[in-house]
Amino acid sequence: MNLSRKQFLSLSGTTVLGFSFFNALSGTGAAAPLIKSTIGNGKMKIDIKTKKLILEHTWTISRNSSNFKNNVFVRIERDGIVGFGEAAPNVRYGENAELTTQKIKNAEQVLRENNLFHFVNIKDALDSAILKQSCAKAALDIALMDWIGKALNVPLYKYYGLNTADAPLTSFSIGIDTPEVIKEKVREAAPYPLLKVKVGKPNDEEIIGAVRSVTDKPIRVDANEGWKTKEEALERILWLKSQGVEFIEQPMPSDMIEETAWVRERAGIPIVADEAVKTAADIPKLAKAYDGINIKLMKSGGIQEAVRMIGMAKSLGMKIMLGCMIESSVAISAAAHLTPFVDWADLDGNLLIKNDPFHGVKVDKGRFVFNDKPGLGVEGDF
Ligand code: MG
Repeated sequence: MNLSRKQFLSLSGTTVLGFSFFNALSGTGAAAPLIKSTIGNGKMKIDIKTKKLILEHTWTISRNSSNFKNNVFVRIERDGIVGFGEAAPNVRYGENAELTTQKIKNAEQVLRENNLFHFVNIKDALDSAILKQSCAKAALDIALMDWIGKALNVPLYKYYGLNTADAPLTSFSIGIDTPEVIKEKVREAAPYPLLKVKVGKPNDEEIIGAVRSVTDKPIRVDANEGWKTKEEALERILWLKSQGVEFIEQPMPSDMIEETAWVRERAGIPIVADEAVKTAADIPKLAKAYDGINIKLMKSGGIQEAVRMIGMAKSLGMKIMLGCMIESSVAISAAAHLTPFVDWADLDGNLLIKNDPFHGVKVDKGRFVFNDKPGLGVEGDF
């Protein structure tokens, strides 16, 4: 049976995803569409669970230290199709597992009340329902897009028209520590060709010295807002540049845009925004101070906003990194599917924990290894 595009769209009950799905079918000689109009509207089951993720090493950045993270997991099920999502609450943004769980509970009605194929409408409704705790929104949006990928039987990267051969290598992060422990961490990171090193405390030179004493790999540096004046930031950056550092992430506090612009003019290496950028609306004002942005699903509130940010940053000629918090393979896989869109990847959150409850996109010598399972392609213990 061959259907016209119009007939197909009315059968699938959507104009939003009809386009890419129809294109995927045409040219393959495929017969009837696979989606019944009733799918997406069935009874909804939503489960929420907090899981304690244990870190391999104490994780220290310029702000704080931790040995574990409590992340909040979401499982949605409708019409026999399951979607997984994850929130990694971050103290920098006033988030914690209890508040995040509450936000998810308050907003889950949005998914219950809508046909899941109307995921653009659902995103708009979640943007209104969840104003803080953006990681709660991320958990629901990730679960939703996993469900959509499974309902369409396509991996997420295919849904977005991406070629996984374009995915950049991921860096592996080295937290702040004593020189001896840093050397050990760098040796343990032997399989990863790129390192991201946390600095921003008074011992930056000692840390970089320890890294450089055991490796000459390319390194990227993240100060996590640690340098408080433009003169200090510039001095540190010029020294780091002399040590072969590729770029600097968030040198100064997020609200110091003018000072960061001053540093950027003199630095001679790219400056990337992280804490200064959460959603697409933040990007235009940063273009004068930063060469690129670090998009994280927990800040953006999920996959759909991350894709919007990618479009916004590209339109402004900015470089793009996809980064993460300490996350399991659920959220890491979600971000990994978008990496063919971007210049740099820093998606190692699941590699820093001992007890990842899920498995999905893997990393081999820094390269993402995608499976061809639909949606996020993740499986594990909810
Ligand atoms: Mg960062």
